[in-house]
Amino acid sequence: MTEEEKLVMGPKPGVNYPLEVIYCGNCSMPLEYCEYYPEYEKCKAWLEKNLPSEFEKLKVNDTTSEGAGDEEKKRQKRGGKGIMKTKKKEEGPKQVCISRAPRGKKKSVTVVTGLSSFGIDLKVAAKFFGQKFACGSSVTGDDEIVIQGDVKDDLFDIIPEKWPEIDDDLIEDLGDQKR
Ligand SMILES: [Zn+2]
Repeated sequence: MTEEEKLVMGPKPGVNYPLEVIYCGNCSMPLEYCEYYPEYEKCKAWLEKNLPSEFEKLKVNDTTSEGAGDEEKKRQKRGGKGIMKTKKKEEGPKQVCISRAPRGKKKSVTVVTGLSSFGIDLKVAAKFFGQKFACGSSVTGDDEIVIQGDVKDDLFDIIPEKWPEIDDDLIEDLGDQKR
């Protein structure tokens, strides 16, 4: 008998194999052949009971294919304002943009656009801002409100507070406008 035949045929009594082969108590085949046996489930049950360590190996092999795609999406929900400024947002139809524009020598105004994409009445919003900041605030365009004062940073807190549907992730800081 050649070496190859021995491997195919399995164990012979009294023959010492160089490699330790573990035989299944259910189908009496080497463990690696169990999966071809019709009652593989019973083989696995036997293995679990009698050779837990081998069974564990089997489970590891079984799950490698499924486990790869199992990565959970973990999304950082809330970033601070510092993160907001550098984070690149996906392009989406619904977004509020806030920017600061110079007015006069030292003063600046805050421009808010995109509120109407959330179905917010701009007049109501302008009035709300005016009361909140105790300063002038008016609707200046199709979807634009100008607030007289530099309140950009405050808006990141106040807008989501007033309109919960606008998460601070949806507010884009456009920085300073140049004139
Ligand atoms: Zn078996």
